[in-house]
Amino acid sequence: MKIVCNACGYIGDAKEMTKGSRKKEMMLWCCLVLPGLLYTLWRQSSDGRYQGCARCRSTDFRPLKRKEWKQYERSGQLAF
Ligand SMILES: [Zn+2]
Repeated sequence: MKIVCNACGYIGDAKEMTKGSRKKEMMLWCCLVLPGLLYTLWRQSSDGRYQGCARCRSTDFRPLKRKEWKQYERSGQLAF
């Protein structure tokens, strides 16, 4: 998905981010297996994933339409 970031002005591909942290996941796995498993499942579910700006990780962005992206590729700027 191509996006325009409202926070930093980034234009390009959105990045898929995972909520939570790997460290916490590991800790849960070491201490208690069941919550660790649930945490892993949650992070891997669509609930634990989100699209964000590849530069600043902000979720405050506008998705670009294919037509808009094509125009951006051609002219190097966006017509808002
Ligand atoms: Zn950004």
